[in-house]
Formats: sequence, structure tokens, C-alpha cells
Amino acid sequence: MKRRISLTLLVVRNPETGGRHETFSADGLRVVDHPRLGRHVITDRPIDAREVVAVWRGYEISETVAANLDRSERDQLLQVGIGRFLANDDDLRTVDYINHSCEPNCGFLDATTLVTMRRIEAGESITFDYAMSDSNSFISFDCACESTNCRGRLGRDDWRRPELQRRYAGWFAPHIEQLIRETSRFDGD
Ligand SMILES: [Zn+2]
Repeated sequence: MKRRISLTLLVVRNPETGGRHETFSADGLRVVDHPRLGRHVITDRPIDAREVVAVWRGYEISETVAANLDRSERDQLLQVGIGRFLANDDDLRTVDYINHSCEPNCGFLDATTLVTMRRIEAGESITFDYAMSDSNSFISFDCACESTNCRGRLGRDDWRRPELQRRYAGWFAPHIEQLIRETSRFDGD
């Protein structure tokens, strides 16, 4: 996932976080180009299970502001709440190129912290499933991950899939976790 916001959005920078905290990339991560997958991130070293690989920092923008961005800018946002997205004016960091996979090896510790779900070997791609963080209308594209679990088309409601809720239990971002709780409570009534 990549994100980059034009400098015109500097006016909405959150004064509480602006500039003081920087996006973190774990050691050994590297961006590589792939003819089919495009740019993505691999690790040059084995990474233990439950190690933090990325912490994204920036400032929050609303879905309305996000909707007015160029498609290329919007595609680079991380959803960090319902109708809330993390933006950043810095140059793209290594972890901004972490891609979606339908068979991911990372999940969320909180809305902006990505951790490994299992041990990852040197040379493996670092991935998460966008269903773990995304419930927005901007998510709509064909997946090229080619995993055996690949669901082909990604959409805003993928988090509703029972098989994903089972597979990613404990790995969803908090706002998606909350949506799942609210939905199951509603279904149970
Ligand atoms: Zn896929």
C-alpha cells in the first residue's frame, strides 16, 4: 500500500502529531519490482512471528477529503477508522509499498501498526489483506496475488466474509473489529 498526499493538504496536518513521529520500517525490508505484482516489499532476513514490520504515521483526513484526491493519491491511503484515513506529506517509505494478498503474512496490532502473523523467511513478500483495514468505497479492484485463497475482486465488504473473519480473527484493525462485533450482535438479535 502506498500513500502520498499533495502539499496542498498541509493545512489539515494534525498539530499533535505533525512531524514529530516518523513512519517506521523494520530492518531488512526492501522494495522490489515485479512484472505482474508491480512494486512490493520483500524481507532480506527471516522475521519472527509477531514482530512489528511497519508503523505508519501522518495525519487523519475524512472520507470526503479523501474522495476529492486524485485516484493515485487515494489508492495510497491507509484506512485508520470508519471514514478516516491516514495521510502523509513525506516521500514514500519502504513500507508504503506493502501490498495486499489474499494469503497474507501480516496483520494489525492497532490501526497503524503491522505485525507478522507467522515467521517469514528471507526473500518472502510482506503482505496484509486489505479486508483487515478497509471498508471504504475506494476499494474496488481485481487482485493479482494468485494465492490459492485469491478472491479475485476486492471490495469494501470483504470483511463481512465469514471465512475471512475466522481466518483473521485477532488480526483486523480495530475499526473493522468493531464493525464485525456490531454486525454479529445485530445478526444475533
Ligand atoms: Zn488475491
